[in-house]
Amino acid sequence: MADDQPLCRSAKPNDRVHPMPQLSKRITTLNDTDSDGWDVFYRARRLKMSGADVTELTIGEHDIGTDPAILNFMHEAALSGHTGYAMVPGTDALRDTVAARVNQRTGIPTDRDNVMITPGGQAALFAAHMAALQPGEAGLYIEPYYATYPGSIRGTGAVAHALQTRAEDDFFPDAAALDALAKRTQARSVLINTPNNPTGAVYPRAVLEEIADVAQRRDLWVISDEVYDTQIWSGTHISLRSLPDMEHRTLVVGSMSKSHAMTGSRVGWVVGPHDAIAAMIDLATSTTYGVPGYIQDAAVFALEQGTGPEATVAAPFRRRRHLAHDILQQQDVVGLIPSGGAMYLFLDIRATGMTGEGFANALLDTHSIGVMPGESFGASAAGHIRVAMTVDDDAFAKALTLICTFASHIASQAS
Ligand code: PMP
Repeated sequence: MADDQPLCRSAKPNDRVHPMPQLSKRITTLNDTDSDGWDVFYRARRLKMSGADVTELTIGEHDIGTDPAILNFMHEAALSGHTGYAMVPGTDALRDTVAARVNQRTGIPTDRDNVMITPGGQAALFAAHMAALQPGEAGLYIEPYYATYPGSIRGTGAVAHALQTRAEDDFFPDAAALDALAKRTQARSVLINTPNNPTGAVYPRAVLEEIADVAQRRDLWVISDEVYDTQIWSGTHISLRSLPDMEHRTLVVGSMSKSHAMTGSRVGWVVGPHDAIAAMIDLATSTTYGVPGYIQDAAVFALEQGTGPEATVAAPFRRRRHLAHDILQQQDVVGLIPSGGAMYLFLDIRATGMTGEGFANALLDTHSIGVMPGESFGASAAGHIRVAMTVDDDAFAKALTLICTFASHIASQAS
């Protein structure tokens, strides 16, 4: 899987010569292929692969690779023999390092047994939902949402319900609406994501307090996806687990993918109560069987370098956000959703009269620029596009300027 979407669509049943037994409903209903905003991404990819000069601002893959110092460490660790089965819950060293990091950043006492290392944040998202939900129960998630969320819930056999949010509310969830949805569906969990992909929203304390309040009232697990916690442009990242009485019902998802440009190394974690972690270790024994030892060694090395490397990885996005502010200020057709973090711009293109999907397709056809239509993140994001800030500054500024000119042109034709 690439950054934030299933790169290969599920195979279509096309082989009637040797019909296979029926696939389980659980697996065939994982992907909600109704929202076809992903077609723009697939088309941009295909064009690029056929040699076209496409500026891809689609998925959240850094334009830099993993730091060579981390890769050297990984190489040495592998050569020195750490290539056998690693401990399923993670190496003691990495679990301790993550626990210390969480302790230091949240003030919540956290030890090795509060941490399980996973092959990326994605495996942590699935494990957390497996821990929280029984088949048939309701798991909530918040729109606009990261592509894999509904599937991570459905994969457990549970039913996924989205809570819509509004651009006018900065895409923060409304506590009364969350409470009503939790009550109506008798939900067992709610999945939140701050800093948010795709909107960049960083939930302030007041919003987190309201979510915590609903979770306590309705006895919900909160699965808190914090994989962008090192990409903060304004405000402060607050982990929901650090709110009073929340560490017993919160499962935090973390990852080295975004913080250290280690997307392909597949190393992340879930932090939660001891009993929940012990249960998820049983799951890992039957599924992933852990993360390669030499990759975990490299993760320890990377985390031991402190916040410097994280700031270095985040710096280009911070810089490009400033560039974007300057460019967008010069026009009034494309609106920049005020956001506090993550490596994307979320742009309101409703003034063009087009859907996000229509706009993204036309932009690809006319200017060979690939962006994600808002609709691929749920109906709440209609009329928006997500722009990944993942090309060099000059190409980024050029593409954004073209996006604005293109939008103005359409808007002037429409009016
Ligand atoms: N959560 C969010 C919000 C993401 O955007 C991503 C990746 N794009 C992930 C989780 C999973 O990342 P990984 O599995 O690489 O840690």
